Amino acid sequence: MKRISIFGATGSIGQSTIDLIKRDQAAYNVVALTGGANIAQLAKDARALGAQIAVTAYESHLPELRDALAGTGIETAAGQAALIEAAARPADWIMSAIVGAAGLAPGFEALKHGTCLALANKESLVTAGPLLLAEAAKHGARILPVDSEHSAVFQALVGERICEVERVIITASGGPFRNWSAEQLKGATLAQAGKHPSWDMGQRITIDSASMFNKALEVIETKEYFGLNPDQIEVIIHPGSYIHALVGFKDGALMAHMGMPDMRHAIGYALHWPERRDLPVERLDLVKLGSLQFEAPDDTRFPALRLAREVMDTGGLAGAVFNAAKEAALDMFIAGQIGFTDMAVVVERVLAQMSPDLGRSKVQMSLETVYDADDEARKRADAVRTTL
Ligand code: NAD
Ligand code: MG
Repeated sequence: MKRISIFGATGSIGQSTIDLIKRDQAAYNVVALTGGANIAQLAKDARALGAQIAVTAYESHLPELRDALAGTGIETAAGQAALIEAAARPADWIMSAIVGAAGLAPGFEALKHGTCLALANKESLVTAGPLLLAEAAKHGARILPVDSEHSAVFQALVGERICEVERVIITASGGPFRNWSAEQLKGATLAQAGKHPSWDMGQRITIDSASMFNKALEVIETKEYFGLNPDQIEVIIHPGSYIHALVGFKDGALMAHMGMPDMRHAIGYALHWPERRDLPVERLDLVKLGSLQFEAPDDTRFPALRLAREVMDTGGLAGAVFNAAKEAALDMFIAGQIGFTDMAVVVERVLAQMSPDLGRSKVQMSLETVYDADDEARKRADAVRTTL
């Protein structure tokens, strides 16, 4: 039996992972499930999967979790230290699907114990890529990409040599505002930004897709995970999201990874790797599709991609700052404090303030310096907000 834990089990990726596990439950021994405020869901899944422990990120929700699991023999715990302790428990495979920089520390802990980390939490690589990869190498732990584009690149690279890769192209749906003018974008509402045309995902990543910040994070994620130069990474707008990524080799060949937009493919690939197993995803009907549409991204209406390039040039802790400023700006947009296009303004100003001190050689990267930079960036983002 494969011992598995799911961090962020109550979210969109977590629920898709549980869907796959439930289809072949006898094959798995579930160690830890973690969630946030949705205790009913967490307790229900912990019972159904017979988890060893259920952890909520919030101490205030522990009594509710205890009550919900009373008499089951399932352990309960809450808070950051409990998440880390759960990540340290022996397991063969851990799904890292907490949203935001909060997902970094548990994943890092899992790697310390040599556990295979299925990484949906792209923020881990954006904020601390070199640190994470070094820790994995030190303990012989595998990191398997779960972000659909990165899973696609990973799959296109099976049997290939990274030194023969000329370029990687990751696709972006373009989100709900693909054809909106700069003026219209200013008035984009939370409800409009929260509707994705092709993927069904958590609220935060959905809004990040509308602003292209999700793709900006993914460009950095690509650079970190595959060790490519920034100029080898391209983004193309592909509204249907049927091609997830393409890898171009030095002989001109271009390998595309295609499939219906369903995260259970990438999750399942990471779950069964290095094997392929039957997955319950709809098969692509190319004739029904008829044709595929592509466009160049527009860095003027969507500055996020341009900012990602700056972050890669700066290196060091710039990724941590970029991500934290973005998370803070997203919180402000969700709270109705700033407009849709103000998010990029906040991020750009925080980066401009902090980048000079963050370059590759200036600050040593550790979990502590990453979270310090994250903290400082959030404070500065708040200060920028008051000037808008
Ligand atoms: P979600 O919002 O649906 O779920 C997030 C999960 O994290 C929930 O279980 C929540 O309780 C937990 N969580 C939130 N804040 C937390 C905190 N501070 N500490 C501990 N736990 C916390 O998010 P999602 O869409 O499932 O995305 C999860 C991760 O996967 C993100 O990093 C996202 O970028 C990435 N990802 C998601 C998709 C997708 O299709 N949803 C695709 C690719 C990558
Ligand atoms: Mg993605």
